[in-house]
Amino acid sequence: MIEVKQLNKAFKDLHVLHDIDVTFEQGKTTCILGASGSGKSTLLRCINHLETPTSGEIYFEGQLLNDSNIQEARKQMGMVFQNFNLFSNMKVSDNIAYALKVVKKMDAAEIDTVVKDRLQIVGLSDKIDAYPKTLSGGQKQRVAIARCLAMEPKVFLFDEPTSSLDPEMVGEVLDVMRNITHQGFTNIIVTHEMGFAKEVADTILFMYQGRIWEQAPKHEFFSNPKTEEAKAFLNKIL
Ligand code: ADP
Ligand code: MG
Repeated sequence: MIEVKQLNKAFKDLHVLHDIDVTFEQGKTTCILGASGSGKSTLLRCINHLETPTSGEIYFEGQLLNDSNIQEARKQMGMVFQNFNLFSNMKVSDNIAYALKVVKKMDAAEIDTVVKDRLQIVGLSDKIDAYPKTLSGGQKQRVAIARCLAMEPKVFLFDEPTSSLDPEMVGEVLDVMRNITHQGFTNIIVTHEMGFAKEVADTILFMYQGRIWEQAPKHEFFSNPKTEEAKAFLNKIL
């Protein structure tokens, strides 16, 4: 479980997140929706302290996150970015192996097993020796997801994982993500794929101008959005 309490984030004079209070329940999937610039990525990045909150608190499994425990907590929070963030100078296998070796201190045989297993899950066993530059966007993103899976996190943070993909590759990444949402992880997914959100989310968070404007079970949100801003957003995107 992740609890966000009175989170505020400013970049110099720009106050980006205002008084965010939200709980992400263990094993549930939350989709974060909202227009570009509404603070979705900043919220996600504050959760694992890729951005330092200006004020407020993040609790992970009851523990207040701070400089001394964030490294441990991060091992349990896998993050998938819009632009994959693969190491371009490393083969697919080494992309996945790197943190297993450096962070988890696994031995080579164990790493080999994990790499093969996770590549199989994302359907890329044949790309084990490929370099990222030879892969399509959809394949790169699936490697990035395999890399997260290898770390056996409790939480998945997805920041618009399909936004930079050509349309024909969106489906293959959503298929892998759909699978992940069935595995009992706590998932927080920023997405513009409304059909997918409707399918996998337990809860929808709708952000507007740095605030949680609306929070509701998905059926309620999609069938009966309460605020004018959420209605306008859905009308525009659907
Ligand atoms: P979203 O993900 O919803 O599109 P972001 O969280 O990326 O929104 O951005 C929210 C606001 O914060 C935007 O106005 C953006 O320009 C600003 N912002 C985000 N990151 C930074 C940064 N590192 N420095 C300055 N401003 C930033
Ligand atoms: Mg963003």
